[in-house]
Amino acid sequence: MKSIWTCFVLGIVLTPVIAKHEFTSVAKTPLPVTRNLFIITVDGFRWQELFNGADSSILHSEKFTPDHSTIGLQYWASSAKERREKLMPFFWKVIATKGQVFGNRHWQNKVDAANLYSLSYPGYNEMFTGNTDMQISSNRKRKNPNINIFEYLNRQPDFAGKVAVFSSWDVFPFILNSERNGLPVNSGYVATNGETDAQQMINTVQRETITDKKATRYDQLTFLAAREYLQINQPRVLCLGLGETDEYAHDGRYDLYLQQASQVDRMIADLWHWVQTTPGYKNNTTFIITTDHGRGSRTGNWTSHGEFISGSSQAWFAVMGPGIEPAGEIKSDEQHYLQQLAQTMAGMLGQKFKQAEAPAIALH
Ligand SMILES: [Zn+2]
Repeated sequence: MKSIWTCFVLGIVLTPVIAKHEFTSVAKTPLPVTRNLFIITVDGFRWQELFNGADSSILHSEKFTPDHSTIGLQYWASSAKERREKLMPFFWKVIATKGQVFGNRHWQNKVDAANLYSLSYPGYNEMFTGNTDMQISSNRKRKNPNINIFEYLNRQPDFAGKVAVFSSWDVFPFILNSERNGLPVNSGYVATNGETDAQQMINTVQRETITDKKATRYDQLTFLAAREYLQINQPRVLCLGLGETDEYAHDGRYDLYLQQASQVDRMIADLWHWVQTTPGYKNNTTFIITTDHGRGSRTGNWTSHGEFISGSSQAWFAVMGPGIEPAGEIKSDEQHYLQQLAQTMAGMLGQKFKQAEAPAIALH
């Protein structure tokens, strides 16, 4: 049992930190309702690259960008607008035209992880449960006691059996506690159902050609598995958790980090194309794209993130779908938190997620 003194001291230390999360961004009118919702997460991808494209000092650092001439040719330009369009053309030419993009701190538009730790598990926990949890302070494979939006939806008559999760990182089944709630969560190098030729091919590649299996599966395999599932099972809610951006950043490889961001952009474009050419999805599917945390904001520490690395809580998100105003990049002084995304997802599906304390985000 915790001593009363511990509670007292923690109370004094933490009250100011918790108190700062006043929700200035609260949806006052109902969110635009959609039939299908896809949430795509890009692990540890910084707002700095999303909004400004490649960073000059990291790009020109031999330590982080070996052979900078090729990468420079691909991703460098003199203006931030050109650079970001080179890095993520679909994002900037389509999402930022048809949808809304939040988190450019240049305009004082801020999105933050509300948890104290700025690590992945705590970030996904708040994003999917609508609450922060002081007890979730690491990436340890611990079964999450908190109820998440996906299991909540999966228990509603309109969504039962129509929710699916695919992730590269093998901790997702614990974050979502799929053992407790039976959600279909395909993560890491777990085999797919193997019902189709494509699924069998994915399984073969995973089983036989990838000898050095890490905690994070290649995003391309996660993406292919998710796309094949969409084709066959036609879920209404899909979570696609991509993870290699974070891996390459931790490895200190800015070149591979940028290349991966570019690949993610193509995957999102491909998914959107599928949606807009598939009956049942066309014009009634909303995308939410976000990240679980930021990273260090300096050239010396961009590779890492965590409680003591300044910049690590800084995040971003984008939305695009039916009824969402094409307001583009939001340039007003606002503060949003990742934990608001759970209720935002529920609201977009015409639901109320009772367990989430953080309110839905006010869109433009
Ligand atoms: Zn992460």
